[in-house]
Amino acid sequence: MPELPEVEITARLIGAATAGKRIESALAPGVNALRTYDPPLPAIEGRQITGVTRRGKLFEVGLEDELTLLIHLMSAGRLQLFDTRASLRDRTSRFLLGLDDGRELRLREFGTKQAAWVKLLRAEDLEAEDTLAKLGPEAFPDPPPFAELLDAPRPLHGLLRDQRVLAGIGRSWVDEILHGAMLSPFKRGSELSDHEAGVLHEATIAALGRAIAHYEDVVSLPIPDKLPMPLTVHRRNGEPCPRCGDTLEAVFYEDYVMCYCPTCQTDGKLLKDRRLSRLLK
Ligand SMILES: [Zn+2]
Repeated sequence: MPELPEVEITARLIGAATAGKRIESALAPGVNALRTYDPPLPAIEGRQITGVTRRGKLFEVGLEDELTLLIHLMSAGRLQLFDTRASLRDRTSRFLLGLDDGRELRLREFGTKQAAWVKLLRAEDLEAEDTLAKLGPEAFPDPPPFAELLDAPRPLHGLLRDQRVLAGIGRSWVDEILHGAMLSPFKRGSELSDHEAGVLHEATIAALGRAIAHYEDVVSLPIPDKLPMPLTVHRRNGEPCPRCGDTLEAVFYEDYVMCYCPTCQTDGKLLKDRRLSRLLK
């Protein structure tokens, strides 16, 4: 599930490789991938790519004449740059940009759902786009102080993942960040002391920064289908805590799992397994 560090490394590598390249062809084989119709897609053929940047978990592919392709991978999309054009049989293809150096920028999506999307927007319409307009400040590299930002009576696990509060963090990195800050996922934002808010702020920058640095070392084009995420807590339930050696625990939800260390984060308390307690009702 691509989050801020995964989108950031992809934007850096693809941005460096495609800047100045011209788009020869643009195709949207995904039935639901292209969510805009004006300007029409053929309008970008012949235009240069000016750069690729990240906003939260989205990509902005800048084009000549102030056009932008806004791309959201959702939960199972990948943006990859290949040396050759996609086979027509590749069922993962959602959006394809053929470039003048023979390469192809490809939005692919794994699994059965077609949720990843692309919007072609004019500069003046970009900031008003629904998803961008709702994004909170960036979680990296320089988020605003947390004491005020997270001052809400909601559990930190949900608050940190709320893109309207803070842009970029999802279900994987939130576990690493809360473990780094030694805070319970269920502690409420409004209950953070100033000291805890400061520790969480630092832990957020540190976890995301380490992940990006790791990817800078090990990831290269075309961008692998599965990035080697350097996670030490998320989905490591049953394994020893990297800090104290206690066994990492998990709370299972319908479509995700929350992992934590009881010793480091919850004063030794085991959090209720929501899945089990529902089954037992
Ligand atoms: Zn621990």
